[in-house]
Amino acid sequence: MSQSITRNNFDEWMMPVYAPAAFIPVRGEGSRLWDQQGKEYIDFAGGIAVNALGHAHPAMIDALTEQAKKFWHTGNGYTNEPALRLAKQLIDATFAERVFFCNSGAEANEAALKLARKYAHDHYGTQKSGIVAFKNAFHGRTLFTVSAGGQPSYSQDFSPLPPDISHAVYNNLDSARELINDTTCAVIVEPMQGEGGVVPADPAFLQGLRELCDQHNALLIFDEVQTGVGRTGELYAYMHYGVTPDVLSTAKALGGGFPVGAVLTTARCASVMTVGTHGTTYGGNPLATAVAGEVFSIINTPDVLNGVKQRHQWFTERLQAINTRFGLFNNIRGMGLLIGCVLKDEYAGKAKAISQLAAEEGLMILIAGANVVRFAPALIISEEEVNSGLDRFERACEHFLKGAAS
Ligand SMILES: *Cc1c(COP(=O)(O)O)cnc(C)c1O
Repeated sequence: MSQSITRNNFDEWMMPVYAPAAFIPVRGEGSRLWDQQGKEYIDFAGGIAVNALGHAHPAMIDALTEQAKKFWHTGNGYTNEPALRLAKQLIDATFAERVFFCNSGAEANEAALKLARKYAHDHYGTQKSGIVAFKNAFHGRTLFTVSAGGQPSYSQDFSPLPPDISHAVYNNLDSARELINDTTCAVIVEPMQGEGGVVPADPAFLQGLRELCDQHNALLIFDEVQTGVGRTGELYAYMHYGVTPDVLSTAKALGGGFPVGAVLTTARCASVMTVGTHGTTYGGNPLATAVAGEVFSIINTPDVLNGVKQRHQWFTERLQAINTRFGLFNNIRGMGLLIGCVLKDEYAGKAKAISQLAAEEGLMILIAGANVVRFAPALIISEEEVNSGLDRFERACEHFLKGAAS
């Protein structure tokens, strides 16, 4: 039964939509992982902004195993205590009055967009169906969400695409104003673009979108799949901006590694989604919501949220120093523990090469497009882990420059 597994098996057996790293992690603890050969890695990737409490957090293990001993699944004919507790936690901590659970970020956005269409149709008629989204945005990989996303290369091969979606320029209110009108049912936007290069929204841009949505009776949807659950140093990024959406999608860090997503909204918006209009088999299952409830109660504390701001300082100060030494980056940007280093023009397209060199040094990092090196570590990563990881990053940058020179 037990067969030895190698990275080559991926290329033999898996649909080739990913190009995973050359090593296979087998065990983790905190912000460290070890591969099959026992080599240690410091994890600044955080499973793409998912592992908010690192790996093998004891409280998460307890929450999961306690629930695992009780029951795992019933389907939507029955509700359960962990789901209702998590819903109440989310409602108490945010603008939300109603919650819908699903299993991923794409599903949360899919539900948010369907809600917006139905809300507009029920209240104003079926001609009100336009969705305004933004270039370079990322909202997931279902056909609807990938069409709302602003990277044509991700959607064009799957045409015909759902109609009535248009894309304005991010952080450009005039461009959005040209597209938003009385036939718009929703504007969907990330308060900080993650996959699109770690680009925070300008406060006036989000405020302006709020006003345009109010003028035209359109719902404002914030995609906080990447920015939510403490990532930016506030529980949700909308809290930084003082701009409240009508609908918010959350996933990634919500489960800390266990798949779960949610749509948060008002009672008025939620009321159009009557029995039978939407659903999912696994959404709100007790395993996922028990873990997420534990994750949420740990993160939604002044200690952890202020700690994210503290860690932002640790990262950016050291990254500035590394950049003073090597001059690789134009700009170091982001909020909290979602940080992007934008490569100078002469190194354009080289983010992947730097991440591969980092892996050789024992460091896992992310990229956000070809020109941005991205960090999204655990929100509770220790100072020692940050420092050791940045030592490794500094060596990777040094090797990169030596390679670029030769
Ligand atoms: C990751 C991400 C998604 C998609 O989430 P999945 O869980 O992969 O479906 C959607 N929106 C944003 C902003 C994301 O970062």
